[in-house]
Amino acid sequence: MRCTKAIIYSDNLRNNINEIKKNLKQNVKLCCAVKANGYGNDAINSAKIAVEMGAEYLAIATVDEGIELREAGIKAELLLLSPCCPDEYPLLVENHITPLVFETEVIKNLNKVVSDLKHSKHPVFLAVDTGMGRIGCLSEEAASIAKEIASSTSLELAGMITHFAVSDSITSENIEYTKMQFEKFISACESVKKAGINPGIRTCAASAAAIAMPEYQLDMVRPGIILYGYYADEVTKEYLASKKISLNLKPVMQFETKVASIRNFTPGRSISYGRTWTCKKETLIGVLPVGYADGLLRRNSPGLKVTINGKAYPVVGRICMDQCMIDLGPDNKEVKCWDTAIIFGPKDSKSSNASLFDADDIAKMTNTISYEIMTSLSKRVKRIIQ
Ligand SMILES: *Cc1c(COP(=O)(O)O)cnc(C)c1O
Repeated sequence: MRCTKAIIYSDNLRNNINEIKKNLKQNVKLCCAVKANGYGNDAINSAKIAVEMGAEYLAIATVDEGIELREAGIKAELLLLSPCCPDEYPLLVENHITPLVFETEVIKNLNKVVSDLKHSKHPVFLAVDTGMGRIGCLSEEAASIAKEIASSTSLELAGMITHFAVSDSITSENIEYTKMQFEKFISACESVKKAGINPGIRTCAASAAAIAMPEYQLDMVRPGIILYGYYADEVTKEYLASKKISLNLKPVMQFETKVASIRNFTPGRSISYGRTWTCKKETLIGVLPVGYADGLLRRNSPGLKVTINGKAYPVVGRICMDQCMIDLGPDNKEVKCWDTAIIFGPKDSKSSNASLFDADDIAKMTNTISYEIMTSLSKRVKRIIQ
């Protein structure tokens, strides 16, 4: 098997879901986000564990992701968070995927596809844009759109949804903005009720708000990143602890490879494209068979360090498509060919081979978030489920 791989620690995922459940009020439903291959952590394994542990809904971004889950035998409700193309409506309906709708045109088209395909009604969630500026009707329009859904022949309003823009920030200005969004959402739900329509499942909180603002949990929460063991930006473990909230997350993924070759370098020799690194004093250089086509982003060199036998070694020269080089230092007798080199993973792993870096550490280096680091792992990196 290829030595560049991602180990998926299922027990850590179970731990994280338990930690989330401890923070949920009674009767709050769980919708686990398994979009983008479970943020890179394997959608099917994540979905199966989430459903076993009580998730009634799973959130996906594409119809194809939903079909993959259905083919794996998953029966939970699937909430499609992103718009799909009209030619995908038949697949959406046949695979019982619940879309977010908010436009008359889409409601009409979808209604026609459903009525052509089946006799029962198809569920939809009404999306409200309370300040994310992505999808959804305005809060003032919610009642009239809900009426269109309720009066259609083949659609039923199963829920209402909005999404926060800055709930992962802890500045007072951003906390105010989230409150404003929440209030707009509640008023949209109330206006639908006043129009005599049941708004169904009301949901607004993803990871950050679900834990930090329990009063925003409403009927269902939609955690994503915290399932996979990372805190949502500024809503860190320490911030939560300061609010007397306990959430002990463990990273689920370990991205690793092995040292494939060790070569002695003498002063003056340079490494990789662009010759950005030149040997100053004699040293041993290790070659790792992992590169940006695997998701080890080129912009992480220079700066990235990998962990081998509990010690950190820097990447030198540019990361290539399929390989990169590390400086093992002169006379290194600790690192041998085919030793494991961990790029990121849980730091508290009980194995003697724990990583010194997690996906957050790597994200900070290039001013991004753990979400992007994990979803960058490409298909070529086999996920090994443990
Ligand atoms: C991705 C997404 C989520 C999950 O977000 P996290 O920050 O990972 O918890 C929830 N809701 C919507 C609409 C999303 O797009």
